Amino acid sequence: MSSPYSLLTTKDLSKEKILHLFSRASLFKSEFKKSNQFLQKNFESLNKTLAFVFFENSTRTRMSFQMAAYRLGLKVISMDSITNSSITKGESQLDTILNIDAMKPDLFVIRCGDSFNLKEIAPQLSVPTINAGSGATAHPTQALLDCFTLYETRRPMSQFRVLIVGDVRYSRVASSNFNLLQQMGAEVGVCGPESLMPDQEKFPHVKVFKKLDEGLDWANVCMILRIQLERHDAGSLKLPSLSSYHEIFGVTPERLKAFDSDGIIMHPGPINHGVELSTETLKDPRCVVLNQVENGVYTRAALMEDIILSSNNGGNLG
Ligand code: ASP
Repeated sequence: MSSPYSLLTTKDLSKEKILHLFSRASLFKSEFKKSNQFLQKNFESLNKTLAFVFFENSTRTRMSFQMAAYRLGLKVISMDSITNSSITKGESQLDTILNIDAMKPDLFVIRCGDSFNLKEIAPQLSVPTINAGSGATAHPTQALLDCFTLYETRRPMSQFRVLIVGDVRYSRVASSNFNLLQQMGAEVGVCGPESLMPDQEKFPHVKVFKKLDEGLDWANVCMILRIQLERHDAGSLKLPSLSSYHEIFGVTPERLKAFDSDGIIMHPGPINHGVELSTETLKDPRCVVLNQVENGVYTRAALMEDIILSSNNGGNLG
């Protein structure tokens, strides 16, 4: 049994741990397909209550964490947005978290902006923390579900050449995926406007493609990203208009004609139709966007299960 751990970035996970989580996620998936539940035995008897605190908006991440928790028999208290919290009365995010910690939850799931230093704050909390997306920095559970979606094809990870297209610089999905995909043996390339490309020294071994067609020619996985307008310093970036962005970097059926016939098309959502991709692209049989969403439930369940069991010294599941 491992010791309790938080998941703040993908660097917190060893390859062995990732493979363990993937095998649990696969099991949850196959059990669910057979019986509409995760396992016959679940956590109900342990009476664990999780605190979900989302300082930034979320649909998929928040709801799939909730879905996974309920299917594991865990209880959840949640702060879904700051607008119905005492932050509107001037309370700081740190005070908010410390007060919820005083209620003694069994695990934190936190989404926050870059101004909240999760790395510094998580160790001050009395229980483990899962990062559900922190600013432009990290989104480890998205990378886990993306990687699991490739892993479950049963093709060796070293055969994947993943092209990440779009706002790579400001995307926490991209930074977490760089680490996890490379750790698992996949190759990674990027393509997008120059001002949205990452600093090369931060991400060595990443191929940079100036032209989307060249990137698609190299890749067998195309991971499309949303432009993170909310994280840009207005005016400081030289960006094409959204329609010319679509012309240059938008993924369309036309462009995908030359893409690997066994290729995989991904997007973490939410999608801006007509910008980073055309709606028709979602109908391509190589597109796994909703499969990614489904896998989010299983991988997050696997992670919560592992952290709770490690904090509970194995516990006795009823
Ligand atoms: N849902 C992902 C995230 O929270 C991707 C995005 O928002 O573009 O980072």
